Amino acid sequence: MKPLYGMTIHEAHDLLKKREISAVELTRAVLDRINAVEPLIDAYITITAGQAISDAEAADQAISRGDIRPLTGIPLAVKDLICTRGVRTTCASKMLENFTPPYDAAVMTKLNAAGAVMTGKVNMDEFAMGSSTENSAFKITRNPWDLNRVPGGSSGGSAAAVAADMCLGALGSDTGGSIRQPASHCGVVGLKPTYGRVSRFGLVAFASSLDQIGPLAKDITDAAILMDAVSGHDPKDATSVNREVPDYVAGLTRDIKGLTIGIPREYHASEGISPDVQTAIDGAADVFKNLGAQFVEISLPHTQYAVAAYYLIAPAEAGSNLARYDGVKYGFRAADPSGLMDMYCRTRSAGFGPEVQRRIMLGTYALSAGYYDAYYKKASQVRTLIRRDFEKAFKICDIILAPVAPTPAFPIGQNIDDPLAMYLSDIFTLSANLAGIPGLSAPCGFSKDGLPVGMQLLGNFFDEQTLLTAAFQFEQATDIHLKKPQLPAH
Ligand code: GLN
Repeated sequence: MKPLYGMTIHEAHDLLKKREISAVELTRAVLDRINAVEPLIDAYITITAGQAISDAEAADQAISRGDIRPLTGIPLAVKDLICTRGVRTTCASKMLENFTPPYDAAVMTKLNAAGAVMTGKVNMDEFAMGSSTENSAFKITRNPWDLNRVPGGSSGGSAAAVAADMCLGALGSDTGGSIRQPASHCGVVGLKPTYGRVSRFGLVAFASSLDQIGPLAKDITDAAILMDAVSGHDPKDATSVNREVPDYVAGLTRDIKGLTIGIPREYHASEGISPDVQTAIDGAADVFKNLGAQFVEISLPHTQYAVAAYYLIAPAEAGSNLARYDGVKYGFRAADPSGLMDMYCRTRSAGFGPEVQRRIMLGTYALSAGYYDAYYKKASQVRTLIRRDFEKAFKICDIILAPVAPTPAFPIGQNIDDPLAMYLSDIFTLSANLAGIPGLSAPCGFSKDGLPVGMQLLGNFFDEQTLLTAAFQFEQATDIHLKKPQLPAH
């Protein structure tokens, strides 16, 4: 039998239900695993061992009363920008190093009600700005498949923790690819839901019109279980949508024969895609063909403007959202200010790291009088064109198959001094956020060096189900997701 920490959510659930294991045993196994491999991976910012054990005890009591749901007693990790009542929520920033929220994010309220056990808060790029988790103010998380490489970002802690079995599943957030890209780099599943599917209440805002919370998981069934738990309308988030949530797990076995998959002309064999990624995506297309899917070439002609539009819109919104960290209300404050202006300047210079400051300057510039029309307004117009590209594509296909990132995980340090190279690596993920559509990343192959490569499936608004169903059947037909990174046993 696999070790308990190596279980998927649904495997552990089956054992809990049959009372072959207890939630406390399961949680202890995961906490021991964290102790053993955290020194190698550095995925966690805060480990909540004590709380986890008492939540597991409560789960065991519920189970003994016959009250067991899919997440009861399941140890999960949470990206450190999702507010957790009484547990420090840092956004991997010095600015919030000592911030303990007095309330839970809506997704935490849901997970707690579902009986889940939180193992801790995991690392990320500061305020979710980045693609490698190297922008954390606290530590660099390492890719479990190659400790000299990045896990991707910004939800790199979530992806690495899932890949290294330091939790059974995790929550991340995705503003321009931050769930899908680290999932791809770490060989796990990640899903960015449709904008409005999951409440953003209690998610520390980066770019409010792009941010969504979603799951990172060991397989598709687990991602569907987590989606079932966190989706749905929330009156506390005015942008969450009141629309029925399907039973994602029940829909996984739906027939996909005749499914039409769009291949974007602009993504396929485009410059910059490494042969490793292209080979893996071509292989995935073959698997879908054997499953009875049909293919159609589609065009997303405005893709070439996605990076430019995103890197105006996201910083503009970030600049506005981060104005609240001024040293007055909460968070870090510089010591011994000589006056108000000095306090503001020194607080924000010392509290924010270089990438966050770069974004605030970029965003403030793009929104300033005289430049607004040329930059922010123009980028918003391009955003509409990108959304229309997808609307047109989904008239002739059900889902779109694309790469997640141009290359597998890159070495730590490679792009850190070249922000533009880092931004360009987001080319395949940004469009889904600009359009608001859902996107899923699932393991589909390995590079010649043995690094995992993910495929991206993009779907129509609120059609997470088709993404999950297609990826589930792919998973059933292959064994790629079963391969694990080799870490020291204990
Ligand atoms: N890499 C992108 C950025 O740096 C996306 C980050 C995200 O999705 N949070 O903005």
